Amino acid sequence: MHRELSDVTSFDDDHETLVRDMVATMYAAKGVGLAANQVGVDLKVFVFDCPDDNENQVTGVVCNPVLLLPEGRDRNLEDEDEGCLSLPGAFTSCARPDQSHVTGLDHHGEPVSFIGDGLLARCLQHETDHLFGTVFGDRLPERARKKLYRQHQELSANYPDDWPVTILADEALIQR
Ligand code: ZN
Repeated sequence: MHRELSDVTSFDDDHETLVRDMVATMYAAKGVGLAANQVGVDLKVFVFDCPDDNENQVTGVVCNPVLLLPEGRDRNLEDEDEGCLSLPGAFTSCARPDQSHVTGLDHHGEPVSFIGDGLLARCLQHETDHLFGTVFGDRLPERARKKLYRQHQELSANYPDDWPVTILADEALIQR
């Protein structure tokens, strides 16, 4: 999870299948976003379905994302609870800029751009981070990080070892 992934270069049927499976996994795992390395795939792609501060539900696929964050006076940190499908059940407060702008390509290779606030801003940062090898624990002060991983340890018995990949297998079976 601490390695930068490879750029998506082919937008063929296999890629479309991957994206569809990732969307199914995200919903099955009740996440608001999912990055390819969370299902063991070395490609810069994430999917999301997440509300912003006005409760607009925004859905998308982003390949090879470029994240733009506000700087200077426009940069306001928001401290809100954050979780990760790779640390099921564990949540902790994490400070992040309250606005995000992500550009990249969709699953057909067409340009996309998403601007968001609230949970959406957090999600776009969290998922882009994954693709560059950063997990949100890395962004926490040491004490908070230790607490997060301890919380995850305590709860991990409730989830399959390879969560959320197991969900992917189940969903794939149902769809066929
Ligand atoms: Zn995550």
